[in-house]
Amino acid sequence: QDNRFQAIISHAKEYGFVFPSSEIYDGLSAVYDYGPYGAELKKNIRDYWWRSMTQMHDNIVGIDAAIFMHPTTWKASGHVDNFSDPMIDNKDSKKRYRVDHLLEAKADQLRENGDAAGADALLASMDQLLAAEDFAGLKQLMNDHKIVCSVSGTANWTDIRQFNLMFSTQLGSVAEDADTIYLRPETAQGIFVNFLNVQKTARMKIPFGIAQTGKAFRNEIVARQFIFRMREFEQMEMQFFVRPGTQMEWYNFWKEERMKWHTSLGIPAEKYRYHDHVKLAHYADAALDIEYEFPFGFKEVEGIHSRTDFDLKSHQEYSKKKQQYFDADIDPATGKPYGNYIPYVVETSIGLDRMFLLVMSHAYDEETITKEDGSTDSRVVMRIPAKIAPNKLAILPLMKKEGLPEIAKELLNECKPHFKCFYEEKDAIGKRYRRQDAIGTPFCVTIDHQTKEDGTVTIRHRDSMVQERVAMKEVRRIVMEAL
Ligand code: ATP
Repeated sequence: QDNRFQAIISHAKEYGFVFPSSEIYDGLSAVYDYGPYGAELKKNIRDYWWRSMTQMHDNIVGIDAAIFMHPTTWKASGHVDNFSDPMIDNKDSKKRYRVDHLLEAKADQLRENGDAAGADALLASMDQLLAAEDFAGLKQLMNDHKIVCSVSGTANWTDIRQFNLMFSTQLGSVAEDADTIYLRPETAQGIFVNFLNVQKTARMKIPFGIAQTGKAFRNEIVARQFIFRMREFEQMEMQFFVRPGTQMEWYNFWKEERMKWHTSLGIPAEKYRYHDHVKLAHYADAALDIEYEFPFGFKEVEGIHSRTDFDLKSHQEYSKKKQQYFDADIDPATGKPYGNYIPYVVETSIGLDRMFLLVMSHAYDEETITKEDGSTDSRVVMRIPAKIAPNKLAILPLMKKEGLPEIAKELLNECKPHFKCFYEEKDAIGKRYRRQDAIGTPFCVTIDHQTKEDGTVTIRHRDSMVQERVAMKEVRRIVMEAL
C-alpha cells in the first residue's frame, strides 16, 4: 500500500497532475501546484460539487467571499482562542509535532503489525484525552507507547502546549498602525457574515443553504502525506440554515446526501465509512466525518457538522448587528408564525485537494494485460470517472499525412465546444493510447484510411480497451452520453 501511494505521487508529477510548489528552489513544505491535467481535474471536481449544490438544489445559492476578513471575525468564530492543536517539541531535534499526529502514526504502525485492537484502543484513549484536554494524560499515553521523534530517535519531549494554526499578516504597509489580520482557516465565516445579505438579496426562505469554494490556510505542524494535509488548500463548504430544533433531521439528510454525491462518481461505497466525532468542536452539537480508504488507511475527506446557532449568535454579539430571520410559517403548536430567531446551521465541508487525492487513489491502476499470443504486457491506467476526467476524448490520426489530420481536425472542431478534447499526431498509436490511459482519458478515437472511404473511426474505451468501429458523426453523441 505504501508503494502504491509512492507510485501515485510519482505518477502525479510525471504526468502533470501535481508538482511540489516552487520546485526549482526545492519546494515548500506542504504546498503544491497543480499541473495541466491536475488543474483540469481539480476544476472538474469543483464544478461537479458546485453544480450538485447550487443547480440541483433550488434552495442553495453560492457566494465568493474574500480570503481576508475583518479581524474580529476570528474572535467571534472562536478561532483566535480555540483554533489550536496540542503540540509537543522534541528537545534533541527541536522538531515540533502535533500530538494527535504522533499517536495516529503509532496506531497505524500497530495496525500494520496486525494489532488492530491495540490501534483502536490507542485512538479511543486519544479521543477521550483530547476531549478532556488532559495534556498530562496525553503525554503519559505517548510514554506508554514509547513514541520517539523520527529525527532524533529519542523520547526527550517537552510538555504539551497549544499552538494556534492561523497564519497572520499585516494590513497596510506601516507596521506601527497596521492591523493584524488572518488568512482564513476555513471558508465558512465568509458565509456567516454574509448571511443576511444573501438571505435578503436572493430572497431565501429557511431552510436554505449558501455554498462556497475557495482557499483556506492552516499552519499545519506535521504536514505529510502529499496533498492530504496542506498549508494552503481549497475547501468546498455549504452552510445550511434551519429552524432551531430541526437540526438533527437536516444533519441526517446531509449525511446521506453527501454520501450519494461521492458514490454518484462511481466510487465504490465500501471504500467509504462514517466516523462519529467523540470530541466535538466548540461550535458543534453533532459531527461526523466521511472517511475514505486511502492507500494509507481510512481517513477523513469530508466533515458534516451541526454548528447550532453558535456562529451567527456570536457574530451578533461582536458586531452588535441582529442576525435574525423572521419565519412567517405557522407553528402548529401555537397557531402563530414561528417569528424571529437566529437560525441553526448544518454544514458540509470537504477539502477539494483531499477529494482530488481520493480520486487519484481510486483511479490509479497498474494492470497486467494478456495479449492474444499469450504474452503479457502492463499499463498504468487512471480510471478517473469520465464526468471529471481532464480530457474526455483524444483524437488521433493514425498518420501525419494523406489527409488524415484534416479529417481529425474536423472532428476536433465539432467536439471541442462541448467537452475537452486532446489532439495528437506524433508517435505510434499504441504509445499514444498508453499516454491517454496514464492521464485518464476515457475515449480515444483513431482516424485511418478507412475513415476516408466510409466515414467510420475506431473508438477505444479506456477501461476495457475494447475498440469498435463507429461512424465519425456518432462520436460526439457517444462521448456526451458517457458524461
Ligand atoms: P483534520 O482532522 O484532517 O485536520 P479537520 O477536521 O480539521 O481535518 P475541518 O476543519 O473539518 O477538518 O475541514 C473540513 C475539510 O477540509 C476536511 O474534511 C478536509 O477535507 C479539508 N482540510 C482540512 N484541513 C486540511 C489541510 N490541511 N489540507 C487539506 N485539506 C484539509
